[in-house]
Amino acid sequence: MTSSPSSTLPYRIGYGEDAHRLEAGRPLILGGVPVPQAEAGAVAHSDGDAVLHAVADALLSGLALGDIGQYFPDTDATWQGLDSRLILTRALELVQGRGYAPVNVALVVTLDRPKLGPLRPQIARSVAALLTLPESEVGVSFKTSEGLAPAHVQTRVTVLLGRVDG
Ligand SMILES: [Zn+2]
Repeated sequence: MTSSPSSTLPYRIGYGEDAHRLEAGRPLILGGVPVPQAEAGAVAHSDGDAVLHAVADALLSGLALGDIGQYFPDTDATWQGLDSRLILTRALELVQGRGYAPVNVALVVTLDRPKLGPLRPQIARSVAALLTLPESEVGVSFKTSEGLAPAHVQTRVTVLLGRVDG
């Protein structure tokens, strides 16, 4: 599962995306930050953090290490209600184990309600801390689906990985 060919490229691009259905009465957590005004939260096996899942998948894809479903299968009761910060930390360890580290991250969250603008600094700070990056290296954009997917949260992420161990 972790035996992709080793790479010596100085930089590698990773891309990830994740989506969850929203249901009333559940908490909504994005980038490790609880969204206080949310009327609905993610239906998921873990805590349903679409931002951290997409960032973790982006890290893994950058080194062709597969996806988080392989490391945290939703058929395994161990991961029930799992704090997604642990998923991201594990993905980061796998990347670091291959001699790479994130350089910068760009993420786009699509959610109709509530408006996330006020949480932008908190989400950027939270994701940056988890990746041990300066906050300035985490770009956070917000979009709505224009009513196309009101009960839905989606995140798309690109990450640049840089080789650190020569
Ligand atoms: Zn997810």
